[in-house]
Amino acid sequence: MTTRRQFLIQTGAGLAALSAGKLSSAKELASAKEEGKRPLVISTWKHGLASNEQAWKILAKGGRALDAVESGVQVAEADPEVTSVGYGGGPDREGHVTLDSCIMDEKGNAGSVAFLQNFMHPVAVARKVMEETPHVMIVGEGARRFALDQGFKEQDLLTDQARKNWQQWLKTGKYKPWSPASNPTHDTISMLAVDQAGDLSGSCTTSGLAYKMHGRVGDSPIIGAALFVDNEVGSACATGVGEEVMKTVGSFLIVELMRQGLSPTEACKEGVQRIIRKNPNWRDVQVGYLAMDRLGRVGAFAIHTGFQYAVHDGQNNVLMDSAGYTD
Ligand code: ASP
Repeated sequence: MTTRRQFLIQTGAGLAALSAGKLSSAKELASAKEEGKRPLVISTWKHGLASNEQAWKILAKGGRALDAVESGVQVAEADPEVTSVGYGGGPDREGHVTLDSCIMDEKGNAGSVAFLQNFMHPVAVARKVMEETPHVMIVGEGARRFALDQGFKEQDLLTDQARKNWQQWLKTGKYKPWSPASNPTHDTISMLAVDQAGDLSGSCTTSGLAYKMHGRVGDSPIIGAALFVDNEVGSACATGVGEEVMKTVGSFLIVELMRQGLSPTEACKEGVQRIIRKNPNWRDVQVGYLAMDRLGRVGAFAIHTGFQYAVHDGQNNVLMDSAGYTD
């Protein structure tokens, strides 16, 4: 018989949770982790908790994972306290809040917007790209015109606080957005869900690295980089320094590794190790991956400790500490 301690040790995230002392019962851990559970929703960072709550309202009613992941991340997009997503997000180095977002459904359909400005819910625009156009990705001015045509309203997303922070940054800021020390503001929300029918979907939305170059687009709207869903296998998503995720096509890689038999945690770990093997400066960057297989088994791994993710299984909505390569 597997003891609670053995069970925790067999599960990568179990180790993280145990060391962080976050989960108090084996039941909580089992429901959230590698036994698998459907429906289920997971998302990156602490703000994932509130977003999961919203997504769960849809999953609990037997709704589609696609609707859950679109609605869920909109909570973070609209929250001015979340300084890395949507309204209240940090601007680029010229003071513009520019948004990247994507969504992908169980059939492999995908929609994406990048370098979009002044819309509260870029993920909803991304879904319209998926459903109302023959394209996957629309950017910049074209995305703005498309959003207006679809009935979305423009509004200023730069809050007074974000403006103050940016003006403060301008006094001493050096353009080094890849350094976690100089710019720890990489807290994109990415969300993965499986619904009662067993269908998977995912979403990702961000204002990107704060004080980035004007026009810079990260991994968050790139299908295969920050998000990938394959209903036959599972789904994966990313947060962190997007350049590293793009260069290794991280989420696609993780789903393909799960297809070959790796567990979600093992696949995320290999995604992280791919970055570490390729980039001699890996210590200067943070990337965190989350994955869910089609049975609702969950895994996570990050370059550095500190990456957290939220798991909602209907009974509990808990914040988990991901294992990290530098643990
Ligand atoms: N991945 C995002 C980007 O590179 C940053 C983040 O995770 O917040 O734009």
